Amino acid sequence: MATLHERALELAPELIKFRHQLHMHPEIGLQLPQTQASVLAQLEALDGLEITLGARQSSIAVVLRGEKPATEAGPRPVVLLRGDMDALPVTEQTDLEFASTVPGAMHACGHDVHTAGLYGALRLLHERRHELASDVVFMFQPGEEAYDGARIMIEEGVLDAAGRRADAAFGLHVFSAEYANGVFHSRPGPLMAGCDEIFVTVQGSGGHGSTPHLTRDPVPVACEMVLAMQTVVTRHFNVFDPVVATVGRIAAGTQANIIPDSAVFDVTLRSFSPEHKELLLADLTRLFRGIGEAHGMTVDIEATPDYPVTVNDAGEQAYAAGVIAEVFGAEQFRQMPFPIPGSEDFSHVLREVPGAFIMLGACTGDDPATAPSNHSARADFDDSSVPRAAAALAELAFRRF
Ligand SMILES: [Zn+2]
Repeated sequence: MATLHERALELAPELIKFRHQLHMHPEIGLQLPQTQASVLAQLEALDGLEITLGARQSSIAVVLRGEKPATEAGPRPVVLLRGDMDALPVTEQTDLEFASTVPGAMHACGHDVHTAGLYGALRLLHERRHELASDVVFMFQPGEEAYDGARIMIEEGVLDAAGRRADAAFGLHVFSAEYANGVFHSRPGPLMAGCDEIFVTVQGSGGHGSTPHLTRDPVPVACEMVLAMQTVVTRHFNVFDPVVATVGRIAAGTQANIIPDSAVFDVTLRSFSPEHKELLLADLTRLFRGIGEAHGMTVDIEATPDYPVTVNDAGEQAYAAGVIAEVFGAEQFRQMPFPIPGSEDFSHVLREVPGAFIMLGACTGDDPATAPSNHSARADFDDSSVPRAAAALAELAFRRF
């Protein structure tokens, strides 16, 4: 009998066709009605699935029950596999024949590959369900790109979709640059940064630029905060558990001779341990409020919903690395020396369920170092990553006893 990997390669033309269809019709955010309908249309031909649609977003949770008789008493393992489905507000600039048909929307982060790959895993496991010892939850998720769709799916019960809590969870992400095509990468422990975004308003009181003593000028105070922040980053944190704090936007006033009432700036924060994530946010909040108070000004600080640090469970990561090395060859899996400073909302799942997130190289060019990266309007993901992702995810569930 063909292995799951061999079968994935047989199904590749069909899976890739599905990926192209998704790529041509990208949707952004939490509501992806067309994408949801396309996935459901694919699932129609498969019997015995338990399908739950999201109430607050276009998510799909699918449960496939393994039919292999249990060898001993006790519940069957539940394995959760996740694929995100949303696109980005980017106008595609590739000349692919399946390029986006929607101006201002593009699958520039490869989530079309994830969706088709997860569907492929479902196909493969459905064909072999008589030999499947686990129950598998397939998490088709909208809104990964800063909409926190994973958290909504968790709130709507995806982790318990099989009737009990998942025992292990796995997800994949493709990369159009950086990694050689086809090679899997991961690491135990912190894999991707935790992220917070904070929006700071320094509230002074404006007036004429010639008479600052009659005002409370928020501009130098905001500047002081931005500079003092750098001292917190370098003086409060161990260099072996680093943090990043970047002000990406700062704004105040209208013209040179008017002191404005307020100044605003936006900060993105990255951290690689849950402890430092909390500490960084707390330290900066105290710093900004303290500087504001020193100058007699109030400071408003708003934070967006956070993305936790993506932390791979050491045991599950080793399991995944072992399965991938066995299926694809030892040289097809590389242990990453460092985490990456991007963020992922699969982190919410990994906070609740031990599991692993794995990177898959999908570069179409000769040189991953210079290829357009994820989120670029010219990002291009190799089609071969679709059956590869499908086989990897399927094997991670299939080999679970
Ligand atoms: Zn992504």
